[in-house]
Amino acid sequence: MRQYQLYINGEWIDAKSGETFKVLNPYTEEAIAEVAKGSREDAQIAIDAARKAFDSGIWSGLPPQRRCEILLDIAERLAAKQSELIELETKDAGMTTRMSSMADIPGGIGQFRYYAELARSVPFYEGLPPMEFPTSYNFVLREPIGVCGQIIPWNAPFLMAVSKLAPALAAGNTVVLKPASYTPITALELAKIIDESDMPKGVVSVVTGPGSTVGEEIAANPKVDKVSFTGSTEVGRRIMELASSTVKKVTLELGGKSPVIVLEDANWDVAIDGVLYGVYLHSGQICVAGTRLFLPGSIHDEFVEKLVAKASHMKLGDPMDWGTDMGPLVSAEQRDRVEGYIKSGLGQGARLACGGARPKELEKGYFVEPTIFIDVKNDMKIAQEEIFGPVLSVIKYSSVDEAIDMANDTIYGLAGAVWSEDMGRAMDVAKKIRSGTVWINEHHMIDTRHPFGGYKQSGIGREMGIYGFHEYTEIKHVYMDLVRKRESKLWYGMVCSG
Ligand code: NAD
Ligand code: MN
Repeated sequence: MRQYQLYINGEWIDAKSGETFKVLNPYTEEAIAEVAKGSREDAQIAIDAARKAFDSGIWSGLPPQRRCEILLDIAERLAAKQSELIELETKDAGMTTRMSSMADIPGGIGQFRYYAELARSVPFYEGLPPMEFPTSYNFVLREPIGVCGQIIPWNAPFLMAVSKLAPALAAGNTVVLKPASYTPITALELAKIIDESDMPKGVVSVVTGPGSTVGEEIAANPKVDKVSFTGSTEVGRRIMELASSTVKKVTLELGGKSPVIVLEDANWDVAIDGVLYGVYLHSGQICVAGTRLFLPGSIHDEFVEKLVAKASHMKLGDPMDWGTDMGPLVSAEQRDRVEGYIKSGLGQGARLACGGARPKELEKGYFVEPTIFIDVKNDMKIAQEEIFGPVLSVIKYSSVDEAIDMANDTIYGLAGAVWSEDMGRAMDVAKKIRSGTVWINEHHMIDTRHPFGGYKQSGIGREMGIYGFHEYTEIKHVYMDLVRKRESKLWYGMVCSG
């Protein structure tokens, strides 16, 4: 079994308490690693190290070119370990090897490279319009914020870790990262690679442990300047509350209940698979999953029939197997939660078009079948709350305006999709969906250079691209006087008349 300690101030150390916890493979239900269980005290040590590293300028004071070199070197080391990372991610998170090798790991490495390059190419200095009177020179400096506390979920562990670390480091901050306890392995492997690089000690620490101790300490500690969190909206609210004590900068990437609106003229050849891809990728454990499908009455029955035919043929099984379409959920608790929602859907009067149970042919692994509910009303729990499992709620609409109203009738606003062959109509719907991303005739298309984040209770701020980089900078306006002569400074007369 793999063993991991805490990575604090450039050292691998046990938790102060000496405690550890086991990490499971959700397909075999067996432990694959034993990991140090950090506490508040361990988090404080890491935060102190990050504070000292930031204040010394050991990282932010390096020429951008040097920061870029160190980060690019880390990206290359990650690339060299790509196949090992793919296997570890698949075994730890239950993500299919198809997904970890096509999206999560290469996407993470690509993102690391992108931000490494930005470290030297982004202008840290921007001129402002000149003032004629009083003559002065004005400009903006983009400076790192300081110590960044970063807390991530379990669904795409490597990509999440990179999305936090890479932009923060590129901008010159120091960081303390807390991975999710279900899936800490690839973030700890990333720490190993950082440790082998020329990254100065203390700039990056990775502290595993419970959200209630390590996470809360990171969000509340006065030495932390910014908290960046990805996870549920419920915990996001708590993070904001804790961060408010010292008015920390906050970026939140939270939950979603993304609508998929199919118009009558959609191209079914693509839309059927597109909808299934939208909802079942990673067993539905994706924040932007298209979990509410809005269908016009005229095509409802036939469209659902086609979805069901395909969904019931999806292959569930070992995520390491290239033939597997859908792997297990991350944990027994997550399966319980999803099953609770299925019960609630039935209780509130929705009907199962397919799925709803554990697959009979699989004896182990936290699986739930691809599930489709019909006769769903938008105010049912299964249509309002984030399930984070392979459950699609189909809702009938009679006019496009009604579909849009229902699509927006949620606390979330992370993403949405519209399917139509008429770009004018599709664009009209896209504009009216209140969310940070809208796909026209697609789903899940996320790119390192494109902004990603939520409207409403799906979050604050943006990740990815230059937008994500700027979330890790403070803007400083510098005013440089060019008048210099006392007698020309008439405005001093407001105070100094003599
Ligand atoms: P979660 O909110 O339960 O936990 C996320 C992280 O926060 C974990 O590391 C956890 O240990 C920590 N945590 C828990 N309680 C805490 C507390 N009181 N103080 C500080 N930290 C605490 O979420 P999860 O179950 O790990 O992940 C699933 C959720 O993440 C879903 O809601 C999903 O939509 C969301 N998510 C959002 C995005 C996005 O970019 N918007 C991406 C992926 C996942
Ligand atoms: Mn695991």
